[in-house]
Parts: sequence; structure tokens; C-alpha cells
Amino acid sequence: HAKASGKDTYQFYSKILNAEALERLEMESSLRRALERNELELAYQPKYATQSKGICGAEALLRWTHPQRGPISPGAFIPLCEEIGLIVPIGDWVVREVCGQLNAWSDAGLAPIPVAINLSPVQFRQPDLIERLFKIVVETGVDPGLLEFEITEGATMENIALTTATLSHLQALGFHISIDDFGTGHSSLSYLKQFPINTLKVDQSFVRHLSENSKDAAIVKSIVTLAHSLGFTVVAEGVETQAQLDHLSGLGCDAIQGYLFSRPIPPQEFAGLLGSELMIQPALGDQRGSAG
Ligand code: C2E
Ligand code: MG
Ligand code: MG
Ligand code: MG
Repeated sequence: HAKASGKDTYQFYSKILNAEALERLEMESSLRRALERNELELAYQPKYATQSKGICGAEALLRWTHPQRGPISPGAFIPLCEEIGLIVPIGDWVVREVCGQLNAWSDAGLAPIPVAINLSPVQFRQPDLIERLFKIVVETGVDPGLLEFEITEGATMENIALTTATLSHLQALGFHISIDDFGTGHSSLSYLKQFPINTLKVDQSFVRHLSENSKDAAIVKSIVTLAHSLGFTVVAEGVETQAQLDHLSGLGCDAIQGYLFSRPIPPQEFAGLLGSELMIQPALGDQRGSAG
């Protein structure tokens, strides 16, 4: 009996493993096909300056609709892309797509707006990252000052010397640098001092209970103070309520991003938002110029 149940258990797990392995394989080939067939899309989420009360930038976020399964969130497919190395060509596609979009908005007569692009740790580690990025801006003729790269604390701490060199190089070319999900990773204050960066993005986990939780409020207040003391601007992510916005404005947080103002939206819709704005002031851009 024991033997039989052991065998059953084995068959049970091997079935699950096979199903998982098959699903992964299917996802992998679907993703490769999506890239080849240009089925990936970008959504743009506005960043809103608390002082000038206008759109001061956007973050480009990947969107993928699987032909059978429907929309799949980046949290689900990006780790897979990282594992199989597909994040490198996909990352290039994102940068090229954003540059094309910036040119299209410029051709349509819209004022230039900085766009932030997420860089995976895998991309950040590529020895030819700088060349790849530079090639794309040269080919598309986009002002590097309109591009901002968001990297997580974890990615920056992998290799301090390499990070310092890479960030310096990126800044020298005119790109802006943000630390994403700040406060959730392991970054050391001494490196924060040494890294050439422009902006800290307060993770949404600290923003969620900002109005009710005095500890979260204290953490956010400290991050704002720290960032400003080091000459960085601060953006808060995941702002969903007016109370959170009021609190963050009171703390002197430079910009906010979140569903309160807008969800990530397709580029045509984003252009509509820009066009409808009375004040198009890249307020962050001005401050960042003096920070770096
Ligand atoms: P992230 O860079 O921290 O992006 C912020 C995430 O928070 C986005 O999720 C955005 O849709 C979501 N968000 C924005 N406002 C709110 C809000 O008010 N409430 C809540 N609950 N969520 C909000 P999304 O688009 O699912 O992306 C998840 C993560 O996937 C991103 O986190 C980023 O790490 C990664 N990602 C997205 N696009 C790319 C990409 O092009 N390249 C790379 N390497 N990673 C990407
Ligand atoms: Mg981000
Ligand atoms: Mg984030
Ligand atoms: Mg994140």
C-alpha cells in the first residue's frame, strides 16, 4: 500500500512538474513570438508635479496580451524574460519604442516630456548596456535628457564599482537615473551618497497606509528629507487617494504617480492628457538639472 501511494505521489508531482514545464515553454515561445511580431505594447503613466500641479513626466510600462490567455501582468512575465535572457532584446525594444513615441509626440506639436524606462538588473549587468542605449538615441535622434532609467536598489548593490561607473557614464550622456521601489531593497547610505542619481522613487508599500500609519508617515518623511539633502528629487508611487496626495505635498515630495491621477494608459490617451493640460511644465526637469 505504502509503495502504491509513493508511486501515486510521484506521478502526481511529475504531472504537475510536466504541466509547469510545458506552461513555461509555451510562455517562452509566445513571448519570443510577441517580440518578433511586435505584439508588445507600452502604457504610459503620468507623473504629476505637486508644486506646479502639472504633468512633469511619464513612466513607460510593458503590456502583453497573450493570444489565448489575455493580458498578462509584467510581474508575471518579466521574471521569465529575465531568466531566459529575453529581457535584453525586449529592453532594447522598449527604449526604441519610447524614443519613437517621443518623436511622434514632438511631430504632433506637444511639448517635450521626460519618459522613465525600467531597467532590469539583467539589463543593467550587460557589459554593452551603454553602447546599446547610446546607439538607440543616436539612431532616433532623441535628446537623452528626455530619458530616465529606473533601477532598483538590488541592481545597484550587486557590484558597487560597476554601478558607479555605469551610472556615471549614463549621466555623462545626459540620461537621468532614478532608484525605483526605494526603501524595499538593501541599499547602503554610503553608496547612495556616492552614486550619481537624480531621483528616489518611494515604494508604494510606504504610501498605501501613509494617512493611517504613523510609522509609514515617518519613513516617507525621512526619505523626502534624505533625498533633498543629497540633491535628489522624490517621486511617490502608488498614490490612490487625495489624503495621500495632500500628505505628500505637505512633506515636500516633488512628484506623485498613481491611480488618483491616472492609471497607465495607451500613448494616444496620454497625448490627449498632455494636449488638454493648460500648463505643460517639466518642473522636475528644471530641478534635476541643478541636482546632478
Ligand atoms: P514599477 O516600476 O515599480 O512600476 C509601478 C507599478 O505600480 C506598475 O505596475 C504600475 O501600473 C503600478 N501602479 C501605478 N500606480 C498605482 C497605484 O496607484 N496603485 C497600485 N496598486 N499600483 C499602481 P505594472 O505595470 O504591473 O509593473 C510592475 C513592475 O514590472 C514594474 O514596477 C517594473 O518593475 C516592471 N516593469 C514594467 N515594465 C517594465 C519594462 O519595460 N522593463 C522592465 N525591466 N520592467 C518593467
Ligand atoms: Mg518603475
Ligand atoms: Mg516602483
Ligand atoms: Mg516594482
